[in-house]
Amino acid sequence: MSKVIIVSNRLPVKIVKEKNKLSYQPSEGGLATGLGSIYKEGNNLWIGWPGVELKKESEQHEVREEIRKENMAPVFLTRQEVEVFYEGFSNATLWPLFHYFHQFAIYDQKLFDGYKAVNDKYCEIVVEKAQPGDIIWVHDYQLLLLPQMIRARLPGISIGFFLHIPFPSFEAFRLLPWRREILMGMLGSDLIGFHTYDDMRHFLSSVSRIAGISASKGVITVESRSVEVDSFPMGIDYQKYHDVASSPETIKREIDYRTSLGKHKLILSIDRLDYSKGIPQRLYALDKFFEKYPEFIGIVSQIMIVVPSRDNVGEYKRLKEEIDLLVGRINGKYGTIHWTPIHYFYRSFSLYSLSAFYRMADVALVTPMRDGMNLVCKEFIASKLDQKGVLILSEMAGASKELSDAILINPNDIDQMVNALHEALIMPPEDQIAHIKIMQESLKRYNIHHWVKIFFDRLNDVITRQKFLATKVLDPHMIRVIREKYDKAKKRILFLDYDGTLTGFHDQPQKAKPDKDLVDILDRLSRDKKNTVVIISGRDRRTLEEWVGYLDMDIIAEHGIWIREKNKDWETFTHLKNDWKSDFRPIFENYVDRTPGSFIEEKDYSLVWHYRKVETGLGELRTRELASHLRYMASDKNLSVLEGDMVIEIKNSEVDNGRASERWLQHGQYEFILAIGDDWTDEDTFLAMPDDAITIRVGRSSSQAKYRIDSFNAVRDFFKELL
Ligand code: UDP
Repeated sequence: MSKVIIVSNRLPVKIVKEKNKLSYQPSEGGLATGLGSIYKEGNNLWIGWPGVELKKESEQHEVREEIRKENMAPVFLTRQEVEVFYEGFSNATLWPLFHYFHQFAIYDQKLFDGYKAVNDKYCEIVVEKAQPGDIIWVHDYQLLLLPQMIRARLPGISIGFFLHIPFPSFEAFRLLPWRREILMGMLGSDLIGFHTYDDMRHFLSSVSRIAGISASKGVITVESRSVEVDSFPMGIDYQKYHDVASSPETIKREIDYRTSLGKHKLILSIDRLDYSKGIPQRLYALDKFFEKYPEFIGIVSQIMIVVPSRDNVGEYKRLKEEIDLLVGRINGKYGTIHWTPIHYFYRSFSLYSLSAFYRMADVALVTPMRDGMNLVCKEFIASKLDQKGVLILSEMAGASKELSDAILINPNDIDQMVNALHEALIMPPEDQIAHIKIMQESLKRYNIHHWVKIFFDRLNDVITRQKFLATKVLDPHMIRVIREKYDKAKKRILFLDYDGTLTGFHDQPQKAKPDKDLVDILDRLSRDKKNTVVIISGRDRRTLEEWVGYLDMDIIAEHGIWIREKNKDWETFTHLKNDWKSDFRPIFENYVDRTPGSFIEEKDYSLVWHYRKVETGLGELRTRELASHLRYMASDKNLSVLEGDMVIEIKNSEVDNGRASERWLQHGQYEFILAIGDDWTDEDTFLAMPDDAITIRVGRSSSQAKYRIDSFNAVRDFFKELL
């Protein structure tokens, strides 16, 4: 029975050691709740660090046995490992860099080595527990190298990965000395998930620029595997927050707090102590707010909860001191005997207290400089049973992509925050209700359970697709089998793609011309009376005519638009129209004007934009724009837009390589059918072939073809074997 293994830095349990006695407290965090529906089932398992250093084997044994009952397995880390791996590379290198605080990032080879060693330790436990057919879901920035480590040891296993923090733009990510190792580590996965589309875009751009691997429609081909990348915004346990907000314990606390606070309006902020949370900026805004709108002095207070975190580390210690100073200054400046501007708590609260604060708050002020998602803002919305309240949210939080009904602000723009506070505090109740209602509906639907389900469904889809597309290497045994079939057959047909399949020089027209070796192979193949050889190409018919027209072969040119059977004239689908070209040519020209190095090729029934000579990155960027522009324009015109290797092409939809090759299959009975090609346009040919055809894809991309061969040289050797 295959199982699911979740791997994260921490286990969803807190183990506390007091007076040599171990106690276990289950974690109540959203992720633990969401993944609970998975790891608690059957043989499934959660692997992670139990959060306590245990040196004695007897204690480790006890923990192992105890948490095994809860479907968990521990990775024991020493104090030193935690320092280097967790506090070091994870939190002092990756965390600041990924949150765009690169000036705080420490680049130290020893930290990276320690990170690698601990990722390897996790890998050992995964390998010990995993069986073929299992699915492994790895979480977050502490384990970026783990997917590739697992892949190296268990090549066939299915791996999902989710990053819970932002993925930075290429310009930030490239600063990391180990950027390539980190990317390759992540690319060991089958599916990589991010909170937002922007994170995904940044990742793809780094993969393309640093690893030199480009993606098509969110699919990256790494060696012979495809890795899918997508965004899956994480939700909260909506029902839990909604229910707790009406519990007697929460109501009791609200009454208690209200008694002390009086009738003042309340602005709420809740964060962990972290420079990414924008806490000082928010305090500057509050100061300015009271300055600009003194009528709110004595009327509105802020409840500011800062949860202690890493305050023994320099940056965090300095931040804490800055916050203490700013709070003191504001309270000293505006406070009265009857009123305190900021109620500041440097500690954590229970769920019921938080829920009471969420209920009471008129405004939630959530202003991170950068945040992967931010759950506090979602919890605030879910807790608003009367739907009254206003959310002010930083556009730098992942959550802002979903909660567009909040007042969105840039946390660096203090004046904008001041105005937002004013707008929120005077917003009529009916407007507050309208906004909260929309956000509640969205959060209710896209809750944590939904997030787990869509990630998991997608991972299962990827696995099914990969099995379906699994293309076998054309090994010597298979070549012998094909050869026997070839020898026996009295009537054979061979569909041969040209560029990339028979010759390797797509981009150097002079070299792409058939050389003597190739001419010899094609000549021998086509002179055999049992063979029909069809050359398939995207090139224009005149070039093909010149290059191979004198051989005894048929030709499909321009991706199926022109057809030439031997000793006959060129034919095309007579109804094909060309008048669309005049509408599209100016668009292509506009892109050439803006993209140095690109050029247009005009074929009889298609237009092609080439960008192989364009600066790396710019061509990819423009092609995305051009593709969407063309698709929009082409939607009602029976035209299709094809994205190829450094080209984008628009042509009539009625014809493609597959449809053109069907013409031969309909008119002849063949005992041996072979199709071979190297790119996505050849996939149409493979799909058009009958079940018993031999289909071969050149290169390492996943394919509908049954077999795979490495290069055009190997293709030539293969034909030499047949002849
Ligand atoms: N939280 C808590 N106790 C507190 C304050 C906050 O448990 O006293 C929780 C809060 O409910 C939220 C989480 O801490 O679920 C913070 O998550 P968020 O994504 O907003 O920020 P992170 O700390 O993960 O960067």
